[in-house]
Amino acid sequence: MRLADVRPVHVADVVVEGEPWPGHLHVIEHPDGRILVDTGMIDSTPELDEEWRPRIYPERIPRDVSLVVNTHLHFDHCGGNRLFAGLPIYVQRAEREAAREPGYTIPEWVEFHGARYVELDGEAGIAPGVRVLPTPGHTPGHQSVLVETEDGLVVVAGDVAYRWGDFDVAGGAILDLEPRRIWLAHETEPRDA
Ligand SMILES: [Zn+2]
Repeated sequence: MRLADVRPVHVADVVVEGEPWPGHLHVIEHPDGRILVDTGMIDSTPELDEEWRPRIYPERIPRDVSLVVNTHLHFDHCGGNRLFAGLPIYVQRAEREAAREPGYTIPEWVEFHGARYVELDGEAGIAPGVRVLPTPGHTPGHQSVLVETEDGLVVVAGDVAYRWGDFDVAGGAILDLEPRRIWLAHETEPRDA
């Protein structure tokens, strides 16, 4: 894999304090099959509409994938999980437990007929050259995805921070790995070393 084999897909915009915020999932073009990191949204609810005014682009969500990873289970990261009934969806056990708390997410977007979660307790390999690293903080079971490429380590860091300006404090465990490139869910451009 090369750097360009880990790429963002802009799948939603929400409004935060009057500002539009892009939301992305990330695709890993793995030789054994495409991996999706987070799944965007395929619909909304009256409550979410009221709070976040989401605009969603479900037609952009890749369907031809071999496995899914959720960095965490907030609504804008797991809303498309229902497209992937029967496929393994990798999530930290602590995150799935957190998602059972009232108000955490949209429960039926997480627990649906055919959902096949693979619950992880900590760091784990999920495909050759791809592993997850727990990066709690934003949520109790938040995880990041580490991809070894010929060009260096690429990290899909989800919501470790919303903005690059906040990353140095929140992302220490990732920076220690000296990655070549980092992606965040709500930033459009990666951070390159
Ligand atoms: Zn989040």
